[in-house]
Amino acid sequence: MSRFVMSIDAGTTSSRSILFDKSGNVCSVAQKEFTQFFPEPGWVEHDASEIWQTQLSVCREAMEKIGASADDIAAIGITNQRETTILWDRETGQPVSHAIVWQCRRTADFTERLKKENPRAVDIFKEKTGLILDPYFSGTKIRWLLDHIPGIRERAEKGEICFGTVDSWLIYKLTKGKVHVTDYSNASRTLLFNIHTLKWDEELAEILDIPMEILPEVKPSSSIYGYSDPEFFGKEIAIAGAAGDQQAALFGQACFEAGDCKNTYGTGCFLLMNTGEEAVSSKNGLLTTVAWGLDNKVNYALEGSVYVAGAAIQWLRDEMRLIDSAADSEYFATRVKDTNGCYVVPAFTGLGAPYWDPYARGMITGLTRGVNKYHVIRATLESLAFQTYDVLKAMEADTGNTILALKVDGGASKNNFLMQFQADILNATVYRPKCVETTALGAGFLAGLAVSFWRDKEEIKDIFEIEKKFSPEMSYNKRESELNGWKQAVKSSFNWAR
Ligand code: ADP
Repeated sequence: MSRFVMSIDAGTTSSRSILFDKSGNVCSVAQKEFTQFFPEPGWVEHDASEIWQTQLSVCREAMEKIGASADDIAAIGITNQRETTILWDRETGQPVSHAIVWQCRRTADFTERLKKENPRAVDIFKEKTGLILDPYFSGTKIRWLLDHIPGIRERAEKGEICFGTVDSWLIYKLTKGKVHVTDYSNASRTLLFNIHTLKWDEELAEILDIPMEILPEVKPSSSIYGYSDPEFFGKEIAIAGAAGDQQAALFGQACFEAGDCKNTYGTGCFLLMNTGEEAVSSKNGLLTTVAWGLDNKVNYALEGSVYVAGAAIQWLRDEMRLIDSAADSEYFATRVKDTNGCYVVPAFTGLGAPYWDPYARGMITGLTRGVNKYHVIRATLESLAFQTYDVLKAMEADTGNTILALKVDGGASKNNFLMQFQADILNATVYRPKCVETTALGAGFLAGLAVSFWRDKEEIKDIFEIEKKFSPEMSYNKRESELNGWKQAVKSSFNWAR
C-alpha cells in the first residue's frame, strides 16, 4: 500500500520535494537552491538542466530521509513557477539555451512594438487567453528564443524542438523523453492557449510567429501523464498531477467552489478567486485563467496581485531600520491601539489592480506630531490588508459574488495582527490552514486524486484543517472611516513619477 504522494515544488529560487501522507501531513521535505542568472539589467535566466538535477536530487533526498521507496509513493504531482520558458532538443533532451524566467523583461520592446503594429492584438489576446499582452507570459519569450538562437526556428518548424514550462520540462525528463505534455493551468499562461476551446490557438501562434510543432499536448491537471523512468527512484512512479503554483495553492486551500478565494502573502500578494465553470472576463484589469482541469471539467479563476506586500515589511527592516525581523512587526504594531491617523501606501513600483498607475509612488500620509515608529509599522502592515481589500473588491465587482471568507498562506500570513485586521477590513472571515505548504499540497492532491489515493474532493475537504480563524470584529462606522482614509491616501500617491 502506498503511503505518500510526492510533490515536486519547482519554485523560482529553489527546487523542493515534499512527501504528504493521506491526512495531508508533511512527512518529509528536501530543498535545494539553484543559480539565478542576470545577464543584463532586467533579464532573469535559469539553467533548466540545473533545475532538473536539483529537483531529482531533492526527490531522492526526501524519500531517503524517511526510508520511503518507490512502492511507498502513490504518485508524483508537480507545481511550478509559472510562465518560465524552456526550449529543448526533442531528440537529446538538451535545453537550447537558458530558460527565460517569468520576471524577465527582455521582451518589453517586442511587446510594445506588437501593440503598436497590431492594435487589435491586445483585444484578441484578452478575449482568447484571458491575459494581457505582457512580457511576463511565455509567448513573447518563446518568440525571443526563436529569433535569437541561431538555427532554432528552422529546427522548430521541422518538429525537432520542444517548448515547455517547468512542469512540462520535468515530466519530459522524468519519463526520459517519452512524454511531452503540460496541464491546462500552465498552458493558460502562455498567450497561445485558448481558454474557452481549451486548445492551442492558430491565430495567436500566427500573431506571435511561433510554429505550433513545438507545443506540448495539453491535459487535465489531475491525470496520469506517464511514469518516471525506473532509473530515478528504483521503480516507476505515476506522474499524475500538475498545476502552476498559484492555481495549485488555490486547490491546496480546498477552494473548490465558485466564489472561494485565497491570498498568498509573500513578497507580493497573489489573489485567486475560483469562478467555477465560467471564465469571467474582468472589467477591472484582473486576469482570467484556468484554475485546473479535473473530472472532465475545467474550473476558471480570476487572478490579481499586489506588487508590494511582504516587501514593505522588508523595507521597514532594511531601509527604514524600524524592525530587526519581519516577525517583530506584529509586536510593535500591537503596542499602539491604532495608527494615529497615519497611512502608508507602499506604491514603490506603481499600483496594480484596480488603480493601474505605473507612475504612482509610495506615501506616508496623515502625519501629526504624535505619530511614532509603532504607528508607521502598524500602518505598513495595514497597507497589505487594504491592498488586498482593493483587489478583492475588484473581483466582487467582476463576478457579483460577495466574499465572505478568505483562505490565507505565505510568509506574512503568520502575522496574527495583520490577519485580524484583514478580517475586519474585509468584513469576512479569514482562515489560516494548518498546512501552510498549500502549493505543494495542491499538486499532491491533484496527483493523489488521479490514482485514487484520495477518493474525491469531499475526502480532501474532510482532511483539510484550519489552524486559526479570524472573525471580523470591527464596527461598520470604524471600517468605513478606515477605508475612506486609505482611499484618500492612495489618491495622493497617484502620478508622482510622471
Ligand atoms: P516569497 O515566497 O515571495 O519569497 P514568503 O511566502 O516566503 O515570500 O514570505 C516572505 C515575506 O513575508 C517577506 O517579504 C517578509 O517580509 C514577510 N513576512 C514574513 N514573516 C512575517 C511576519 N510575521 N509579519 C509580516 N510579514 C512577514
